[in-house]
Amino acid sequence: MNKVALVTGSSRGIGAATALLLAQQGYAVCINYKQNQVAANTLLKQIHALGVPAMAYAADVSQEQQVDKLFAAIDQQLGPITALVNNAAMLLPQSSLVNMDQSRINQLLTTNVTSAFLCCKYAIKRMGSSYGGAGGAIVNVSSAAARIGSPFEYIDYAASKGAIDTLTKGLSLELAEQKIRVNGVRPGFIDTDMHADGGEPNRIERVRSAIPMQRAGQPSEVAEAIAWLLSEQASYITGSIVDVAGGR
Ligand code: NAP
Repeated sequence: MNKVALVTGSSRGIGAATALLLAQQGYAVCINYKQNQVAANTLLKQIHALGVPAMAYAADVSQEQQVDKLFAAIDQQLGPITALVNNAAMLLPQSSLVNMDQSRINQLLTTNVTSAFLCCKYAIKRMGSSYGGAGGAIVNVSSAAARIGSPFEYIDYAASKGAIDTLTKGLSLELAEQKIRVNGVRPGFIDTDMHADGGEPNRIERVRSAIPMQRAGQPSEVAEAIAWLLSEQASYITGSIVDVAGGR
């Protein structure tokens, strides 16, 4: 069976490291991004240099029409997907809940939660045995924030990741008999651009001493866990969430 992976939000950070690792492991890969075409095309060139089929596709995965078009384009260019990584997400500037308005809360939840639900829906229709599919695997990228709650910084983001953990559990049970495994990873502090979006580019430096391993994780270290959960080596694992957080 051809291995075809969609990694949402893979122009940068953890998503880009995952797309590259999966390509190195022989998956045909769709790089998805929202706006950073330059970063997506740089990664696409790197993957093509490996001799692996790949495509880059701009789609806001929180919007169903765009998700529909994204999956149709993958069907056409690479074949139906066998692996989905729900990685795209956003962080908004640090704030206490009392100062968050409806528009911020909805924007964050739609981007981080609705997107994963929608991509799962379109993936099931390709991978599920009741739809004629041959099965597959899904990995949802959560966050240690789901366990910690991120008070005074990003309760909205933390709660969105709590929802992702619940999605992982519930969907793994819905799909267990359809030959689709659903698992999650919960990264801790990882060295990416995301912290700047939260308004504190040097956040990792500030919190370093609270990380048991005394360092940030690298995107490639999260990618390894994702790729393993997608692989046949994890063939009897579903509904599990792996913490990749340096002991935090
Ligand atoms: P990042 O560096 O900020 O990159 C975010 C990626 O998501 C970019 O490729 C961006 O595309 C894409 N994206 C954002 N909104 C999108 C949308 N609506 N539709 C499609 N793509 C969208 O993020 P990261 O730090 O690698 O985080 C990746 C995942 O790990 C997220 O789920 C995040 O919550 C989780 N995580 C990160 C950390 C951490 O410390 N970094 C810790 C725990 C969990 P553009 O390039 O086009 O903007």
